[in-house]
Amino acid sequence: MTDLATPVLDVRNLTKHFPIRRGVLRRVVGNVEAVTDVSFKVAPGETLAVVGESGCGKSTTGRALLRLIEPTSGQVMLDGADVTNLSRNALRQARRRMQIIFQDPYGSLNPRMTVREALSEPLLLHGVATPANLDAKVAEVLRLCGLSKFHAERYPHEFSGGQRQRVGIARALATRPRLIVCDEPVSALDVSVQAQIVNLLQDIQRELGIAYVFISHDLAVVRHIANRVAVMYLGRIVEEAAAKDLFASPRHPYTRSLIAAAPRPDPNVKRERIAVEGDAPSAMAPPSGCSFHPRCPIAVERCKVERPVLRQAGTSTVACHLAESQDAHMTGAVDKHHLNQTLIRRLEMLQAARQKSRDTA
Ligand code: SF4
Repeated sequence: MTDLATPVLDVRNLTKHFPIRRGVLRRVVGNVEAVTDVSFKVAPGETLAVVGESGCGKSTTGRALLRLIEPTSGQVMLDGADVTNLSRNALRQARRRMQIIFQDPYGSLNPRMTVREALSEPLLLHGVATPANLDAKVAEVLRLCGLSKFHAERYPHEFSGGQRQRVGIARALATRPRLIVCDEPVSALDVSVQAQIVNLLQDIQRELGIAYVFISHDLAVVRHIANRVAVMYLGRIVEEAAAKDLFASPRHPYTRSLIAAAPRPDPNVKRERIAVEGDAPSAMAPPSGCSFHPRCPIAVERCKVERPVLRQAGTSTVACHLAESQDAHMTGAVDKHHLNQTLIRRLEMLQAARQKSRDTA
């Protein structure tokens, strides 16, 4: 049961802008606005998925949470303590309680260390094990990750991709964290292995009550694992809702486009024909108003000048001026397919106009 009154993680207005420097004097001439004003909470034992297209800022958010990159501003509260102001030593201690799993475990494991050595390091450093009980602790972590004692003597290159990710998870678990940031943890794996790793993460969560921030572009995996979902576009959260509500009735046009574009396992299920138009704009020069407006099939004049704020609409928190009209659609006040058809018509008009300008050029 999600209890956001006492969250493990409370992120407040997290912002990360990378300065752009030019010239001999390396003057700052602008910023890449990778993450802006991102806020969310994660309860113990809960999985919050952060989704969006490549470059939307989800991985930067994950790294900024752990201060693997320094946030520009904002607060990250872990069990009520502000991680953003900790000294280097205090941060090292706090890292015991928050860990990260990367997409490529091979890159995060030292190829010259056996699994025993890779696990012993965090176990001893954070005082989870002593030299006397180290072997038992290593065996316990391996068991949790579906590996055997004999795997402890192997090197990373001796494992398959799935086993290597299990070692990556074991290393993250070694310090008994309260929170794990899972940064695209199954994207590089075969589909059958993906399912094993996702199930393993769920089993571990059930056994240890760890909270996950699950960063992914794969909505099928997110649907399976997440309790809540935050959708990011150009560095900002544009919609957040319980997973079942978000997939059943997405409110933001961008969320609807993402879901419509996701592969469907059942060929008999008719796909909603809503595609995201064009490429995402540059984070160096985000569009005025709603940053989604150049690609949004239902944008109105107001969208070009006024940035929508996140607010409650139905079961979601949404940043869209037209969230209420979509709300009406969801509650049946408007014909069931009316909004979809409007979106499709607008998209077809945009494509026709683009084709016409190409033909006349
Ligand atoms: Fe589209 Fe306007 Fe809503 Fe942005 S605010 S998502 S441009 S309708």
